[in-house]
Amino acid sequence: MAEKFAVGVDLGGTKIMAGVVNLATGRLMASAKKKTRVVADGQDLVKRIAMVVDEAIRDAGIETKKLAGIGIGAAGMVDREKGILLAAANIGANDVNIAEPLQEQFGLHVKLGNDVEVATIGELAFGAGRECDNFICLFVGTGIGSGIVYQGEILRGFTGTAGEVGHIVVVADGRDCGCGNFGCLETYASRTAIARNCVYDINRGFDSVLRDKIDPTKGGLRSKAIAQAVEMGDLVATRAVDHASCMMGIGLATLVNFYNPQRIILGGGLIEALPVYFDKAEAEARRRSLRIPSHKTEFVRAELGDYAGTIGAALLIR
Ligand SMILES: [Zn+2]
Repeated sequence: MAEKFAVGVDLGGTKIMAGVVNLATGRLMASAKKKTRVVADGQDLVKRIAMVVDEAIRDAGIETKKLAGIGIGAAGMVDREKGILLAAANIGANDVNIAEPLQEQFGLHVKLGNDVEVATIGELAFGAGRECDNFICLFVGTGIGSGIVYQGEILRGFTGTAGEVGHIVVVADGRDCGCGNFGCLETYASRTAIARNCVYDINRGFDSVLRDKIDPTKGGLRSKAIAQAVEMGDLVATRAVDHASCMMGIGLATLVNFYNPQRIILGGGLIEALPVYFDKAEAEARRRSLRIPSHKTEFVRAELGDYAGTIGAALLIR
């Protein structure tokens, strides 16, 4: 059988990355990327995606008509049937028909999915979820995204919103969450939450190497900066990471008890930069979950890193 290739596009809040992927091996043949930029309108967004796709195809040196299609994983809510990006706060676009114009331009079949969903599909096929048909992937960053695999398939739930693990409530009447609720896991365990904890301590007069690295308007902090501060023994950073990873462990224990997955896969920039976060979250999850799954559940790191979204998106075409 001839090898099959498809284009995968990771449409995120900061960058658009496209790659030509071998569907049998998951190997990325060529890739291209561009900053997402807040777009003027939907047409502008589609144009930018098309440019990145075109570049990746040219770099791969494969004739367009020989490709099986284009799969796109977008950071936002999508209509899978119609190929429409319904809402994407970080991209600044709503109700954009993505699939149709790209289909016309390239003459290829186009499928749209959610970014976390496709990253989970990538890990399932070629990453940390190989040979496992019952696991949960969590990606920790600005927020917490997650995908659930049940009997080898993505579990979507009744209204397509299953896997919103970031919105498990861990503190009754806790911090305000973007979803409108209070005390959700992502307000305590995400990178944003760690930055928030640091700002709080710094404002209370504690000294920290992070003082100059925090953007006071957004409260943003890069994973690398957090990791360096922890390595240097910075008390504010260490305390913030301790607290966040502990809260993550509480959330994970809920998943272990409720879903009894074989494996929990943690990924995202924060996990890659901070081994201590992973270790503490795992320890706390084991300490707080029921006795048998506490020992049996496997906690592992995601394997596809930055490319999970691109590879997984191409797999939408299989
Ligand atoms: Zn929430």
